[in-house]
Amino acid sequence: MANNGSIEKRWIRPLPERLINKIAAGEVIERPAAVLKELVENSLDAGASRVDIVIEKSGIKSISIIDDGCGIEADQIEIAFSRHATSKIRNFDDLEALLSFGFRGEALPSIGSVSKTRMVSRTADAESGREIIIEGGVIQSVKPVASPIGTRVEVEDLFYNTPARRKFLKTESTEARHLTRTATAMALSVPDVRFSYTINGRRLFLLGKDTDNLRLRVAELLFGKENTPLLELQHSADRLKVLGYLSYPDNCRRNRNGIYLYINKRYIFSPTMIHAITAGYAELLPSGNFPVGALFLEIDPKQVDVNVHPTKAEVRLSEEKEIHDLLYHIVKRSLRSAMGIPSASNSARIEIVSYDNSADGAVGRLKPFIPRESSGAASDLLEKLYGAPKQGIGMFDTDTDKISEETGVKIDSLQEPAEASIPGNRIIRYLGQLSRLYLLFIDEESLLIVDQHAAHERILYEDNLRAIESGGAISQNLLFPINIDLSAERFAIYEEASEILKSAGIISEPFGATTVMLSAVSASLTRKSPEKIFDEILGDVENLHRGGEDLKKAVAQSIACRAAIMAGDRLTEDEALGLFKRLERVNNRHCCPHGRPTILKLSKGELDKKFGRK
Ligand code: ADP
Ligand code: MG
Repeated sequence: MANNGSIEKRWIRPLPERLINKIAAGEVIERPAAVLKELVENSLDAGASRVDIVIEKSGIKSISIIDDGCGIEADQIEIAFSRHATSKIRNFDDLEALLSFGFRGEALPSIGSVSKTRMVSRTADAESGREIIIEGGVIQSVKPVASPIGTRVEVEDLFYNTPARRKFLKTESTEARHLTRTATAMALSVPDVRFSYTINGRRLFLLGKDTDNLRLRVAELLFGKENTPLLELQHSADRLKVLGYLSYPDNCRRNRNGIYLYINKRYIFSPTMIHAITAGYAELLPSGNFPVGALFLEIDPKQVDVNVHPTKAEVRLSEEKEIHDLLYHIVKRSLRSAMGIPSASNSARIEIVSYDNSADGAVGRLKPFIPRESSGAASDLLEKLYGAPKQGIGMFDTDTDKISEETGVKIDSLQEPAEASIPGNRIIRYLGQLSRLYLLFIDEESLLIVDQHAAHERILYEDNLRAIESGGAISQNLLFPINIDLSAERFAIYEEASEILKSAGIISEPFGATTVMLSAVSASLTRKSPEKIFDEILGDVENLHRGGEDLKKAVAQSIACRAAIMAGDRLTEDEALGLFKRLERVNNRHCCPHGRPTILKLSKGELDKKFGRK
């Protein structure tokens, strides 16, 4: 730079390797979970049949991975920590048809440059192992040590020399969640490898010898229960092979985090493929819900570009749209055939009764059509999921493959309108329920329309929030406490939220590694199966909390939503008026916790205008 007239010469020179590694670490190693992923990938690339993971203080203190793979030759261990050193590819063609996880030779040098790392490795024909210690990218020592065959890597004090990055880490519980998700994703991808995963002193899973099949591993890891019924997907064509297991619609979640996707065994993130899967469930899935499971796609490696991002979670597909459509059809067909639901072609003749053109009255979500003559397990399942079939109601649309629920507007209550007096001495008269969702009232001046679910949700939300703040929720003891097995990921959420759940009346305690003993639920929740409701609430809370919602509010919202009367529930006059009165008393009666309106008012003035009287 020019300075006092003298020109300082600027040399262009290569950066020291240590600095390059530290810069690269910024991209490759963004958080503890990335270290875990890189190291486990190395173990799998090394042909390990067993991988043990031990994490302390959510990875900030230490991350250790022990494998029984091929090990590293004694004279290669230093090279493994130098940049772009890899045993996995030699030329560009190898890169084109990549089947191993690693290939950049970047992970070890990056990790070594931002931590204090110790690696001990021994090959089968070596007499002893070799240990290397590297701190902040500087090799401290390399020496022979006794060791079993395989490799052990211990990464301590991650980011100790990059304070900005260390500060950037989220809370320990967030890092723990990422770690657990990564460990889960990797364990799912190799059902024939024994895995153990211990985090912060708790062993979240130990997957043993028997689990040599994918179905079992999905059931154990994602549902905590070996015998969970799962939909099997199996498809084999030139373009695309699919193998995987997904939950049935009754075992879904309100977020997409339960879907683990892989392309050529590599765990990936793909909103497009998640869309294809969810679209395959279509109306069988309540809106805003997603199935849970693991799906492995095999595509010609030449069609997949994994070199998009250093962390390799994103891939580029050359025929993404075609793969999306194929996957959608595979999911749709498999699900329907497993559930015994007729496809469009063989049920076009199903009788259509009660058809009404005024489709704008349609509300509620679509339900599967259950043919009247159907019998057996599949229809029993459907009945369990969606309630008894309604004779003769429902439209089957052979174009869209969808069954719509009854359409048309119907006022259920034709009796004398009931009245109630509410604060301020207004007299409210109840007219009836529209489409089993909207409650119609009038006062002297206007027509009032209440969304029964949104209104009830708002009332319960405020009740819950008050209870959480004061610890005064009314809870109902279960006759017998029940043990609920959670997936490792769910368990992490549970640990974060359990105290708040308790103050909201859901009383439980950890009972074994990922099991929870539930002994009481909030009084408002007693209409449903406690086991199911518990799982649903954890799912909601996870979702809301991840979306930035405060944990207390997330719990209050979820319980409110799950306990509230639903669209489709029939209300008596007393109930309708009771609801209205309670709505008058809440702080914010105009919208539900999600911000949708609870009540609409049409004044006489507005009606006059609409009728052209003004
Ligand atoms: P990459 O995996 O992209 O090749 P890494 O930096 O992760 O790069 O690893 C460098 C090399 O070190 C690998 O190519 C492999 O030869 C060796 N290596 C790393 N971890 C292990 C392990 N657990 N077992 C055997 N060899 C390993
Ligand atoms: Mg690697």
